[in-house]
Amino acid sequence: MYAYNRMVSCVTGDICREVIEDPALDNMWAAARLDKGYQSVAMTVKQNKGKEVYKTLSKAANKEYVGLGIERMSVIEKGNSMVLLMDQTRIVVPETMRKRGMDREHLAHPGINKMLRSIRAKYFWPGIEADVKRMVVACEPCQLHMRSQARDLLLMDHFSGMVM
Ligand SMILES: [Zn+2]
Repeated sequence: MYAYNRMVSCVTGDICREVIEDPALDNMWAAARLDKGYQSVAMTVKQNKGKEVYKTLSKAANKEYVGLGIERMSVIEKGNSMVLLMDQTRIVVPETMRKRGMDREHLAHPGINKMLRSIRAKYFWPGIEADVKRMVVACEPCQLHMRSQARDLLLMDHFSGMVM
């Protein structure tokens, strides 16, 4: 079980130390520091007033997190920056870093399902599914890839029907 709404001390199996020490994530820390909505969510989580604490959030920038697992988030700190983790295993990505995260998972044009799987294994943000779907639907190579997968499934159905 996770202890929710608490500061995590880096424990085996979570990504806390990785997030703190990985120089590739310096941009993530900087983006989090500049994102006022994100910081106020982080502050709310840090204050650790129990599960109902999110009800004190009022600004629109924070409201998007309500009902989307803020009670499962924890905060890690480096210097004067705070980064949120979801379930201690995924980074809650500040808005300005989301496109970059999606671009990285989109390099091989994996289509919606594969891309959602890989991106949700590492990241969380409100509306992550809609953002990924929007990106894949607008991408021609992904569409071609998905059409050929759908065709393969049809062929498999066809042949399994013949065996019967
Ligand atoms: Zn694509």
